[in-house]
Amino acid sequence: MNKKIWLSSPHMGGTEQNYVKEAFDTNWVAPLGPNVNGFEHDLETYLNQNVFIGALSSGTAAIHLGLIILGVKAGDEVICQSMTFSASANPIKYQGATPVFIDSESETWNMCPKALEAAIIDCIAKGKKPKAIIAVHLYGMPFNAATILAVANKYQIPVVEDSAEALGSKYKGQKCGTLGDIGVLSFNGNKIITTSGGGALVAKTKKIKDKAVFFATQSRDNAPHYQHSEIGYNYRMSNIVAGIGRGQMEVLDEHIALRRAMHDFYANYFKDIKGVTVLTEPNTDYFSNHWLSAILVNPEQTDGKTREDLRLALDAANIESRPLWKPMHLQPIFANDPYYGGTISESLFQNGLCLPSGSNLTREDRDRIKAALDAFFKG
Ligand SMILES: *Cc1c(COP(=O)(O)O)cnc(C)c1O
Repeated sequence: MNKKIWLSSPHMGGTEQNYVKEAFDTNWVAPLGPNVNGFEHDLETYLNQNVFIGALSSGTAAIHLGLIILGVKAGDEVICQSMTFSASANPIKYQGATPVFIDSESETWNMCPKALEAAIIDCIAKGKKPKAIIAVHLYGMPFNAATILAVANKYQIPVVEDSAEALGSKYKGQKCGTLGDIGVLSFNGNKIITTSGGGALVAKTKKIKDKAVFFATQSRDNAPHYQHSEIGYNYRMSNIVAGIGRGQMEVLDEHIALRRAMHDFYANYFKDIKGVTVLTEPNTDYFSNHWLSAILVNPEQTDGKTREDLRLALDAANIESRPLWKPMHLQPIFANDPYYGGTISESLFQNGLCLPSGSNLTREDRDRIKAALDAFFKG
């Protein structure tokens, strides 16, 4: 059997182990140390927007702490993009709050500004103004920030910007992660850079970063003994993991260029295939890192061939592909939570497929993908 082509697999640059070795050599094997400070500094420099980074154990932890810092408590309502990974929404439940899910718009597949405003108006009419909005840059594609942030601003609701998939993406030249009140990054195993597992909270002030780190290290008060006046969490990033991150930062822009080249490969291939569209920036305001390349298959224009047929055909050729995120309002665990919008995210889920997108795919891999696509669409 030929080797498996993965959707998105870790891609080391080569210097990661030097940073990890240094951590061992100096015995900084702890959830603090020079690599943690260095990785935070690297990210701050990269995002280039006067932000303060708190390195954490995961992106999910960053969303959770973001909600805590914004004062989300039991019984509150928090707006969340429906079309996303469950990690965007789960922290709302950790706080005992209620998620209010919002449909997508077809241009970016991200939060629909119209449905967002309708939800806010309805929540306010019911006497419950939402405490926060969690908007997501899906697959690296920035959400319509000008409009979403204008709506948030109009109603004075803070935005948690879930940029877990969008490190290096830009909206109107500004890096994703720095657009909202609180930004979220992830370095999980399949993200654009990985530390094996990890995340970060992007804060606009040092005070907020310090608060996040305080919560992330068990909320220890300033005292010689262990003194606590608030509930704490064990969410800080380890110095070993941060060493991997430092090495990955050296190759981030190179990896973005390679992911974008994969997107161009698909865009070029599918321009001749009727009924298939590739998720692409709507205009020059948007710059996607194209973490994952994703397509929509319209069976009415492909002689009835569906995205599931394609997924199975690729799987038979030992090529991994995956349906888009199943919207949260269709998930059994969130079935009783409110939802605003129509059926856009549902139909994206129905017809959408993510294709192999890794920065480490070879020319040979591309040839195999092309051959499998040819056999499916032209065979
Ligand atoms: C990966 C991801 C997260 C969670 O990040 P972890 O580091 O895996 O906890 C959150 N939101 C989105 C959209 C993601 O893709």
